[in-house]
Amino acid sequence: MGIKVCKFGGTSLADAARFRQVRSIVEADQTRRYVVPSAPGKRHEQDRKVTDLLYLCHAHGRQSIPFDDVFDLIARRYGQIVKELGLGLDLEPHLDQIKTRIAANATPDGPDSAGDPDFNHAGGGAAAAYAASRGEYLNGLIAAELLDCPFVDAAEVIVFRDAGTLDRQGTQQAIDERLGNLKKAVIPGFYGAAADGRICTFSRGGSDITGALVAAGVGAAVYENWTDVSGLLMADPRIVTNPKVIDVLTYRELRELAYMGATVLHEDAIFPVRQFDIPVNIRNTADPASPGTMIVPEVAPITHLGTISGIAGRKDFTVIAVEKALMNSQIGFGRQLLSVFESHRISYEHTPSGIDTMSVVVADAQLEGKRERIVQDIRRICEPDSVKVYPDMALIATVGRGMAYTPGIAAKLFGALSDAQINIRMIDQGSSELNIIVGVEAAHFHKAVRAIYDTFVR
Ligand code: ASP
Repeated sequence: MGIKVCKFGGTSLADAARFRQVRSIVEADQTRRYVVPSAPGKRHEQDRKVTDLLYLCHAHGRQSIPFDDVFDLIARRYGQIVKELGLGLDLEPHLDQIKTRIAANATPDGPDSAGDPDFNHAGGGAAAAYAASRGEYLNGLIAAELLDCPFVDAAEVIVFRDAGTLDRQGTQQAIDERLGNLKKAVIPGFYGAAADGRICTFSRGGSDITGALVAAGVGAAVYENWTDVSGLLMADPRIVTNPKVIDVLTYRELRELAYMGATVLHEDAIFPVRQFDIPVNIRNTADPASPGTMIVPEVAPITHLGTISGIAGRKDFTVIAVEKALMNSQIGFGRQLLSVFESHRISYEHTPSGIDTMSVVVADAQLEGKRERIVQDIRRICEPDSVKVYPDMALIATVGRGMAYTPGIAAKLFGALSDAQINIRMIDQGSSELNIIVGVEAAHFHKAVRAIYDTFVR
């Protein structure tokens, strides 16, 4: 039987009761050998994540504001978990050391203050990275005690370069050497260290990346990512009531859905596992019987012909549509048009085009304060017949490997939108045939997602 690496998210480790659930999950399967915990997350809507509180301690320290009260909240939270779990673990010395070091870091020559800002990919420099990382560190100590297995500090196995970038190869090697002969281990998520010992964190939600790196490092058969939902949903539950869970999804489909806003896994967590074709299984800690979503390399043969895997979308786009007669035969037109965006340092999302038209889709945030000048430049450089700007657009991606080579999928999609009286302003089908993107007015966004879901899924 292959090895399983299990990452547990913050809500799965928010209190003692959830820690117990985690123990029963890990103990139910002997192949669950390596556990990667997050820091305690929210227990309820109004609660604070420990990571946020740690950042707050650091920020207060930086401004010479006492942070004892905030730190006490953190200490009490861990104290309660340890006590309710009945563990003999004494976290006091760790907490004292952490508090002292956060305070020392607030001084100009503090131990971590010489850091490159890149050391904390969530922003704030090496001193902030140290503070934030302690949430996972302490939760790792608790999990190791509870599961009765060795604690391996992520600072030993997740290797960063001096510039604060991840050293993939160094990490792979360190994991192999350090974990290779450990039957079980707990490795805290979210951080690692550079050769000089300085702590470096990933961006927020980065424990997913640690789990993926450990899975790649030990050559896992599966990377289990335990969270608070029973997998990736076919549509946003705030838009569609009770959407179905996606059972199997390819890495590429996940990428398409994630790009359009479906979030379940940190974007950077896919690359390490993809390199070794390790499937990722999204599971629900509160419902371990549910199989969750399996994210796999390409699956062949396609069993889902004609069906879709999911729908995702985002608002706040602008479409800039340029029309010029005989554009198709003018060499260099596309390059000229895109060079305008490049010169304003704007990255575009899509460029759907027709015979005499070419549109550029840009996120509103990128256009802020630049829109007028861009239109002027397009007029001057491309000499078009017209330039039209359509703000307040939403893009909706309908994604699925089963859509490829299936006649009539596009017609079905457009039919669904037309039946719902929604005007499609833009269509973009990538050459992969994995994805059809439509642009609709933002006001029609929810209605359009529901229409597509109802047509393909219900
Ligand atoms: N605890 C960190 C955060 O809140 C990392 C993680 O949970 O993955 O972002």
